[in-house]
Amino acid sequence: MDFKKYIADVPDFPEKGIIFRDISPLMADGEAYKAATDKIVEYAKDKGVEMIVGPEARGFIVGCPVAYEMEIGFSPCRKKGKLPRETIEVNYGLEYGTDVLQLHKDSIKPGQKVLITDDLLATGGTIAATIELVEKLGGVIVGCAFFIELEELKGRDKIKGYDIFTLMKY
Ligand code: AMP
Repeated sequence: MDFKKYIADVPDFPEKGIIFRDISPLMADGEAYKAATDKIVEYAKDKGVEMIVGPEARGFIVGCPVAYEMEIGFSPCRKKGKLPRETIEVNYGLEYGTDVLQLHKDSIKPGQKVLITDDLLATGGTIAATIELVEKLGGVIVGCAFFIELEELKGRDKIKGYDIFTLMKY
């Protein structure tokens, strides 16, 4: 399937010079969303994934249907102050300033094989922070899966050594 057909390219959003790659048309098409999910399920099965973790909010959109299909768990990684129970956290760099991501302390069992999901790999900052949280809890990252990779931002360099699966490259 030509997945790029279902991505809306929005110039100058959220600011001038950025082309926002909007996955919502893909999600809105049942057949395309399922086909994209199935590709990641196939990848995850090969890796023996036991648990999925994704950062808010679009990491949930990619990861949850994969977890459902595989009958495994999904744990949400969220911005500070959203998770109600005991958390661990990490600071990570954004284009302007920093932010904090958190994970519930009991979300991963040590040694568990974890897949990280998000909609898009840009600079890799968000996914590097998510990886750090999972590893702090003893999780073993067996792969990272995205719908989209923006190659010129070199996110792969930030998460060297981890296996990366992407459906579309720009
Ligand atoms: P990064 O931490 O730089 O890899 O940024 C990744 C996060 O920012 C992802 O969760 C994306 O949802 C979002 N993002 C960054 N750049 C874009 C873009 N051009 N279009 C859509 N989403 C983006």
